[in-house]
Amino acid sequence: MKVLSVNAGSSSLKFQMYEMPEEKVLISGVFERIGIENSFYTIKINGEKIKKVVELSNHEDAVIALTKELIEFKVVNSLEEIEAIGHRVVHGGDKYSDSVVITDEVLTTIEELSSLAPLHNPANVIGIKAFKKVVPNAVAVAVFDTAFHQTLDESEFLYSVPKEWYTKYQVRKYGFHGTSHKYLSERMESILGKGKKIITCHLGNGGSLSAIENGKCLDTSMGFTPNAGILMGTRSGDIDATIIPYVMEKSGKNLDEVMNDLNKKSGVLGISGLSSDSRDIEDGIKEGNENCILAQKMYVRRIVGYIAKYYVFLQGVDAIVFTAGIGENSSKTREDIMKSLEILGIKIDEQANNTRGEEIRITTEDSKIPCYIIPTDEEVMIAKDAYNFAK
Ligand code: ADP
Repeated sequence: MKVLSVNAGSSSLKFQMYEMPEEKVLISGVFERIGIENSFYTIKINGEKIKKVVELSNHEDAVIALTKELIEFKVVNSLEEIEAIGHRVVHGGDKYSDSVVITDEVLTTIEELSSLAPLHNPANVIGIKAFKKVVPNAVAVAVFDTAFHQTLDESEFLYSVPKEWYTKYQVRKYGFHGTSHKYLSERMESILGKGKKIITCHLGNGGSLSAIENGKCLDTSMGFTPNAGILMGTRSGDIDATIIPYVMEKSGKNLDEVMNDLNKKSGVLGISGLSSDSRDIEDGIKEGNENCILAQKMYVRRIVGYIAKYYVFLQGVDAIVFTAGIGENSSKTREDIMKSLEILGIKIDEQANNTRGEEIRITTEDSKIPCYIIPTDEEVMIAKDAYNFAK
């Protein structure tokens, strides 16, 4: 069965087409600058990369261009062959604890949840509608970033604020990157067996950790929004909320400006004053740049803080897993984190830790807790859920 996995952003659309259940990628690509001048798309097929500059005034244009390419490259003979489309949807609120077939009612609910994810859900909805128009016969499935975290106990997901903030306004911890954490949990189950306690570290430009027991998420570091938890490339992570009105008063900035500072100018970028990209920070550290050294130290400490908390929360842990841009590629960051965890009996396998982008154990045989790199694959998870509904 041919299944599409789709991730629609406000001006972009990423896709991957699979032959299922083999999970074989047939074609993948990304449309960029949709609705902006100089739009273009890149496609990967048969080991080749093709770039085309075309006018894409909206997402429907992108979907039409995509379907033309699918026919041109003979990935499908007709659009009827596309039997299922899985859409990444950022926010499922507390309505969806699993993926769901997108009916009109579901689409309305996703639209209503836009107040919780104003930057993401509207873009996801535009993508869903564009595919519905161009490929109407395919089963459309929503796969939510928040779904995996719906198993949190209320003692973990509630903030200690007036309860009616939750009952009236849905203020609670939702958590994000759920599809990635779930993928890691399932991969670890296949390596170590079921019933294990795992700490998953998704460290990319955004970053979050989860505490998982027997495949069930018990806590996660992101919160009401993705700005909570560890510090990230440009996001602050956890701060005292009272800082916000204080900085507004002192700086004369309005709320939007301060929130923009917290989302786009904080984290590793804010502390280093140089870059949000961990490669630049590592170069800076080599040159002795004090701000880069400090940014890395803070980044690592916040992560280690969450691991320590989850270790106690889970009453021990069977494995720690690293994934995403930094987790998969930065041996230095992994090493810095694991060294800070020596007290737990973690022993690094230096050679294994120097590999990148492949699934591998990076601790020695006698390490009390094994640590792994598992390259994440949210796309295949989305395709699997779409396939399961269509089948
Ligand atoms: P996003 O959250 O945008 O999906 P990614 O998972 O792609 O982010 O991660 C982006 C981060 O990965 C950047 O900070 C980048 O520096 C880091 N990264 C990518 N490759 C390397 C590398 N070889 N060494 C260190 N960091 C890397």
